[in-house]
Amino acid sequence: MTGDAGREAGVEPLVVHGDGILGYDFGPAHPLTPRRFGPGISLMRETGASHFLEPRLATDEELARLHRPDYVATVRRFASDPGLPPRMGIGPGDCPAFRGMHEASALVAGGSIEAMDRILAGTEQHAFQPAGGLHHAMAARASGFCIYNDVALAIARARDAGHRVLYVDLDVHHGDGVQSLFWDDPEVLTLSIHETGEALFPGTGSLEETGGPDAPGSAINVPLEPGSGDRSWLHAVETIVPAAAKAFRPTMLVTQHGCDSHAFDPLAHQRVTTTAYARATSLLDELAHRHAEGRWFATGGGGYDVYRVVPRSWSLVWLAQAHREPPAETPVAWRERWADEAAGFGQSPLPATYLDARDLVASDPDQLFERDRSIVEQALSAWLIISGGDR
Ligand SMILES: [Zn+2]
Ligand SMILES: [Zn+2]
Repeated sequence: MTGDAGREAGVEPLVVHGDGILGYDFGPAHPLTPRRFGPGISLMRETGASHFLEPRLATDEELARLHRPDYVATVRRFASDPGLPPRMGIGPGDCPAFRGMHEASALVAGGSIEAMDRILAGTEQHAFQPAGGLHHAMAARASGFCIYNDVALAIARARDAGHRVLYVDLDVHHGDGVQSLFWDDPEVLTLSIHETGEALFPGTGSLEETGGPDAPGSAINVPLEPGSGDRSWLHAVETIVPAAAKAFRPTMLVTQHGCDSHAFDPLAHQRVTTTAYARATSLLDELAHRHAEGRWFATGGGGYDVYRVVPRSWSLVWLAQAHREPPAETPVAWRERWADEAAGFGQSPLPATYLDARDLVASDPDQLFERDRSIVEQALSAWLIISGGDR
């Protein structure tokens, strides 16, 4: 426990999760598998999480805050008839239709909205929805495994309650949906640190994307090189997030913790480790207290190494929100419980430590680091000028 002013030791963060979430399932061959919740929630519980809330369905009116009603109607039609021809991003590929897809997606959205409402009411200080962070969903289009943009809907809730929201997106993919939904809103700053769109889906998130005509400086993008690891990634997080928070003066922090930048992840090309995730999450906690009276809503996100990486990444978010240091070792009971299943998917052995060993991957070569460092510098200096920041 820390004794920092403003940090209430012993107050357990809220975790939004329930079995209904397992219904968000694009099928057995899809990388975003509900199998991640078994080992993931189980490690969080073994780590100490016990304050859980079942998500609720978002209403059509709540979804309409950011999604076009004809899109919601389309998702509903696919939910009862998955065989309909492809439309609005739903169909074969990243977002295949499945029975009940509206209800499952509205449950993730409702979970994030409900978590935010509790933070706004002051009944919770920190909350985390592991299933949330569906950051690619657009106003009228499904994209990148995301149907409804739960995390953007939570931001809108805070915005409507008069908050200035800093959104930090750590997923390896650019947070394009959230950026687009608040592109012209000066009260929401979206900050995304990701692998460059030149190498990875969705292709956006360049340095030049800095906000719409009515909100110059409402977006910061840090497109890192493919192959970047802890050295570059942490430098980016530790340089730009505190500086942006200081200049923007948010009253609410919302974060997305996709762990697909990890060295083991099969879908992207970065080499980050859980050691860097732990430093990032504890920095975010510090910033929530420094700038936003502790108001902090966190979500999961991408992450496709579902036994070795996702459970530890979620647990590290919970630990930071609980103001606890990561224990040295992962519980033996957890490893025993999931070892066979993990092995069946080629993910052995399950890690014995929360923090990856320093030698899991070689440090970023100087040349790579220098390129990334220059990207961070350009992103920050351009933003400070556009936003009139550095106040
Ligand atoms: Zn805290
Ligand atoms: Zn991702």
